[in-house]
Order: sequence, then C-alpha cells, then structure tokens
Amino acid sequence: MTTPPFDLPSDLDIATVSAQLGRPARNVIGISARCVCGAPTVVSTSPRLQDGTPFPTLYYLSHPAATAAVSTLEANGVMTELSALLTGDVADEYLAAHNAYLADRTGIVDVPEIDGISAGGMPTRVKCLHALVGHTLAAGPGVNPIGDRALALSTWSPTVCQCLDYGLESPAPASSAAHNTTADGGPEA
Ligand SMILES: [Zn+2]
Repeated sequence: MTTPPFDLPSDLDIATVSAQLGRPARNVIGISARCVCGAPTVVSTSPRLQDGTPFPTLYYLSHPAATAAVSTLEANGVMTELSALLTGDVADEYLAAHNAYLADRTGIVDVPEIDGISAGGMPTRVKCLHALVGHTLAAGPGVNPIGDRALALSTWSPTVCQCLDYGLESPAPASSAAHNTTADGGPEA
C-alpha cells in the first residue's frame, strides 16, 4: 500500500496495468497497491491528465480478479448494506477518509475543478465499491471504513495471487537473456 509520494512505475508496471485494463495506461504516476506477487492492483493517475482533463480517481482498482469480485458484491446489493452503516462513528470515519483522499491528491497537484470531489460516493454515499476498495488497498486498513468492509466481504484478497499470465517479462540485459535462452533450451511460448 502506498500513498503519495509514489515511486516511478517501471515499464513492466505500465505494461501490466495496460494488459489489465485492456488499453494503454496513460498518465500513470504510481502503483499504489500490489498483489503479494508484486503485480499492480491499484494504479494512480495524474489528477490532471496531459490533455488538461481533471481526473479525480487517484486510486483506480486495475486488477481483473479484484474488479470482478467487487462487481459481484455490487450486484449482490452490498452497497445498500454498507450505506446503512453510515451513521455515528462510521460516518465520521468515512468523512475522514474523504478528506484523506483529497489531501493525498492535492499533495500531488491542486486541480480546482475537482476541489472537494473524491471518489466512490464519499463522504456521504456509497456509489462505487471499486473506488472505495482501491482507496483501502492504497491507504491500508483503518482509513476507509467502507472500503475495508467491502474488501473483507470480497472473495479476492491481495494476499492470495490470482494474477493472469500477461505474457510480459521483465526487461533483462541482452547478455543475461541470451544466457537464459541457452540454459532453458530456448524461449518459452
Ligand atoms: Zn499476483
């Protein structure tokens, strides 16, 4: 889990996120959460895209198995259940999560068009569990009370690798790649 400042994403990170999303990942400023295997699960995009468009969703759940599991929760009416919890302490924690999200984002760059707009329905509604689980995975437990609960209810966990083989390899120096090819008796299909 990682909140800003982020380390620069590697070429393999960008390639993996692009494969997860099924389109080229652009304006990526960091990988804010990873699977136990190291693959990205949450991607952070610049709050202002290169073409000037504001982009409020700082923590985007990119992992196919995670998004599918969270979609199942949404389809099963879990949002209504979780919305009902937004009273008292949980409502206060949810507001604090909203403010933490905004602080993370404005710490990168202040985008006036999306002032006060976080994600997922925060601070008073539950509108998108993908955004809330993304926040939980990036910020760690105890920051987003609804994201925490949704992740706990989900059949997906960042501690159990369900990554697909995207057919991507870490770029290796030419000499070491040649050596591996010889040792393995040729490149694998
Ligand atoms: Zn994995």
